[in-house]
Amino acid sequence: MSNRILIIGAGYAGMLAATRLERVSEPFTMVNKDPYHYFTTLLHEAAGGRGEPTHYTVQIKDVLRKPTSEVIVDEVTKIDRERRVVVGKSGEYSFDYLIITLGWVPEYFGIEGLKENSLVLRNVDTAAHIRNHIEQQFQAYLSDGDETHLRIVVGGGGLTGIELLGELLDWVPKLCVKYGVNPSLVDLQNVEAMPNILPQVSATLREVAVQTLTERGATLRTNTKIVKAEPGVLHVDGAEPIRAGTIIWTGGVRANPLLAEAGFTVDRRGKAKVNAYLQSVDDERIFIGGDSAWCEDAEGKPVPPTAQAAMQMGKVIGDNVSSHIHGQPMRMLTLKNKGTLASLGPEVGVGDAFGIPVKGVAAGLAKEATKVEYLWELGGLRLVADKTGEVVHI
Ligand SMILES: Cc1cc2nc3c(=O)[nH]c(=O)nc-3n(C[C@H](O)[C@H](O)[C@H](O)COP(=O)(O)OP(=O)(O)OC[C@H]3O[C@@H](n4cnc5c(N)ncnc54)[C@H](O)[C@@H]3O)c2cc1C
Repeated sequence: MSNRILIIGAGYAGMLAATRLERVSEPFTMVNKDPYHYFTTLLHEAAGGRGEPTHYTVQIKDVLRKPTSEVIVDEVTKIDRERRVVVGKSGEYSFDYLIITLGWVPEYFGIEGLKENSLVLRNVDTAAHIRNHIEQQFQAYLSDGDETHLRIVVGGGGLTGIELLGELLDWVPKLCVKYGVNPSLVDLQNVEAMPNILPQVSATLREVAVQTLTERGATLRTNTKIVKAEPGVLHVDGAEPIRAGTIIWTGGVRANPLLAEAGFTVDRRGKAKVNAYLQSVDDERIFIGGDSAWCEDAEGKPVPPTAQAAMQMGKVIGDNVSSHIHGQPMRMLTLKNKGTLASLGPEVGVGDAFGIPVKGVAAGLAKEATKVEYLWELGGLRLVADKTGEVVHI
C-alpha cells in the first residue's frame, strides 16, 4: 500500500507537522494558499504599523528544505473523502494520509451586516488592509473635516482585539504627527458583549490591562452587545449607534467551513472531532490539528484555539502519521499550557508565563521571547538569525 501524505494548510499546526515528518525523512506534499507561512499571533503588529506585513512571513521552502518535501501553492476548495482527493483551484491532490490544518475563519454569530461592514485580522493581506484603511481615514478627515473618520472601533475584547487595540494606541499618535491631526480628535474604542475583556488572564492582571489601555486613551465598552452593522455604523444594545471610519471585528472564530462540507463530525463551531491521537473519528488516516480540530484534553476540556495548542498538535500529528505508516504505537496529545501573554503595545503586556503572573515591560519581553522560541522550533538558529533583525526586537 502506498503512503502519500498530503498536508493542507501551512499554519502553526501544519508547519510543525511537516517539520516532524522531515525529521524522519517521510516524504509529503503540502498545499497552502500562499508560498509563505505567516505569524498569525503577530498580525496585530502588522496592522498597527509596527513592521511591514512581509516581515511577519517566512517562505515555506526556507523551512521545509528537503527535496522529498513538495510545496504546492493552491487554494483548497473541497475535501473529497470518498475519492481520497483534495480539490484546489489549480488541481487535484490525491492522498493516502491527509493532515488537515486549515485554521479558522471569522465567526459573526449571525449579527446582521457585520461581515459586510467590518474589517478582520486574518492574514498578512487583511493586516495590510486595516493599516491602509486607517491611513486613508486620516486623509479623508483632512479633506472633509468629518471627525467620524478618526473613530476606530474594535469589536471583541479577547486576545486579538486587545492586542490590536494596544498596537493602535501606539501607532495613532504617530499618524497624528504625520498628518498634522490633533490627537484629542482620535477616538479608539473597544466593544465587548461580556462584562470583562481578556477572559484568559486573572482578574488582577485584567485590571492592569484595563488601566494601561484607558490611561493611554482607549475607551473600553464592556457589557455592550453589537446587534447590527451598517456601512460606518455599529448598532449596540441599549446605547446610541456608534459611527466610525474604521470598524474591525475580532470577536469570534470558527473552523474552516470545508470540514463541515466534507461531512466530518463537527461541533457548533465547525471543528472536526478527533480522538486523543488527533485522528478524525470518521477516518483513521485523516489527522486534524489546530483551530480545525474539535479536541478535548485529558480532563475532557476542549482544547482552546491558540497557536501554542496548534503547535503541540502539529508535532503529535507529524509523529503519529509516521508511526501509523510504520505500524508503531502512536502518542496521545498531552497539552502543556505555557501561559497566555497579551501585548498592550510594543513594550508592555499582561499575562502569565508558565503560571507566573507577569505585567508591564516584563510581559512585553516574555512575549518577545515566545517569538524567538517559535522561530527556533521552526528552523533552528538559521531561521532565528534570518528573521530576528526583521521580526524579533530583543
Ligand atoms: C492577532 C492575533 C493574535 C493572536 N495571539 C495569540 C497568542 O498570543 N497566543 C496564542 O497561542 N494564540 C494566539 N492567536 C491565535 C492563533 O493565532 C491561532 O490559534 C493559530 O493561528 C491557529 O493555528 P492553525 O495552524 O490552526 O491555523 P493558521 O495558523 O490559521 O493556519 C492556517 C493555514 O491554512 C491556510 N489556508 C486556509 N484556508 C486554506 C485553503 N482553502 N487552501 C489552502 N490553504 C488554506 C492559511 O493560509 C494558513 O496558512 C492569535 C490570533 C490572532 C489573529
